[in-house]
Formats: sequence, structure tokens, C-alpha cells
Amino acid sequence: MSDNIEKYIRRKVHKGSSSKIAQKFVDAGLEKIRSCINCGTCTGSCPAGRRTAYRTRSAIRKALTGDESVLQDIDIWMCSTCYYCYERCPRDIPVTDMIIKLRNIAVEEGYILDSHFGLANDIFYATGHGVPANAENQKQWRDLRESYGLPPLPPTVHSYPEAVEECQLLMKEVGFRDLLDNAAKLKAQRKAEAEKNAKEEAEEEKK
Ligand code: SF4
Ligand code: SF4
Repeated sequence: MSDNIEKYIRRKVHKGSSSKIAQKFVDAGLEKIRSCINCGTCTGSCPAGRRTAYRTRSAIRKALTGDESVLQDIDIWMCSTCYYCYERCPRDIPVTDMIIKLRNIAVEEGYILDSHFGLANDIFYATGHGVPANAENQKQWRDLRESYGLPPLPPTVHSYPEAVEECQLLMKEVGFRDLLDNAAKLKAQRKAEAEKNAKEEAEEEKK
């Protein structure tokens, strides 16, 4: 490695931050992002970035510098995990894994999107399906299946409802229920806090 690159890494790369996200990255074994040279190859390769505001390099940069705002950034959910950036990064950084880690940490910190919460809750806990088909108002899915010669319900927990309880127990044992509940709690706390602040500001302005 050239001296210039060494100097660049020493100057720019986050080291020893006490921030929670940086520590979580260290704990997750993703210290390899420290060798990022900010070249932008990941962004240039990213199909998700062509259609959205998501910029891979920027997400990595924020993670490197311990900028926790990256967790609140809806853009990190735009990655389609295609692995282009992973294959092309000149520093062999497992970029896609890092984005997945970022998302995991975001969920742990309560920055989960409502749609993702609903889907995760449905698949892993409530019904065993991302698109449940057994409720009264979901007849269209059963009709669609039958129109293709299939039984109205698939041979999943829909046909074996007793298995739902087993799935729930399993998810509870691996901590998934707690993870979702904690995410929902943190999210609700933040919302209440934001509403309180907005109310206080409005009252302050009236004075
Ligand atoms: Fe950093 Fe690799 Fe992205 Fe370049 S391609 S900015 S080295 S993560
Ligand atoms: Fe973009 Fe994600 Fe594909 Fe990387 S894995 S190029 S971040 S969509």
C-alpha cells in the first residue's frame, strides 16, 4: 500500500470511537470497513442507488465515523443485497454484509419501518406468512390459488395451524419476539418524545 493511502486511512478513518454504533460494528466483527478509501466504487456499482437516494459509500462513511444518523436513514433499506459492491470493492470490504449489519443494528435501536415490522411479525410470529391467505377478507388469494388448480390454502401453518404455536415458541427462544417488542417500544418512545417537543415548541411560539 502506498504511503499516501496509509496516511489517508490514518487521517480519515474512525478509530476508537465510543459511539454505540461503532462499538456494535466492532462487536459484529466488521472492522474491515476501516480500510475503506472512500473511492465510491460501491456507489457507482449500486443498482439501488440508480433509482433511489441511497449512496452506499455515504452509508459506509457514516458508519466509519460513528455517525448514528445512518440508522435512521430510510435509504439503508433500499439495498437489494445484489453483492455488486461486495465483489468490486478494491479494499475487499464485505460491503453488503455491512449494510445488513447496519439494518440489524437499526432494528435493535428501534429504527424499524412499520411495513417491515408488520411483515416480520406476520412471517415469524402471527401467521407464518408474509401474505396471509386464511383470513376472512383474503378470499381473493384462495380463489387465485384455486384458479391454478391448487388447494385454497398452502401446506404451511395455514393448513397446520397447530404449528403456529411451535413457531412462536421457537421465535421466542431465539429472542426474536423480544427484538421486535423492544424495537416497537423504542419507536413509540421516540414518537412520544417528538410529539412532546413539537407541542412545547408550539406553545413557546405562542408566547
Ligand atoms: Fe469504501 Fe470499498 Fe466503497 Fe470504495 S468500494 S468507498 S473502499 S467500501
Ligand atoms: Fe447496492 Fe446493496 Fe447491491 Fe451493494 S449489495 S451494490 S449496496 S444494492
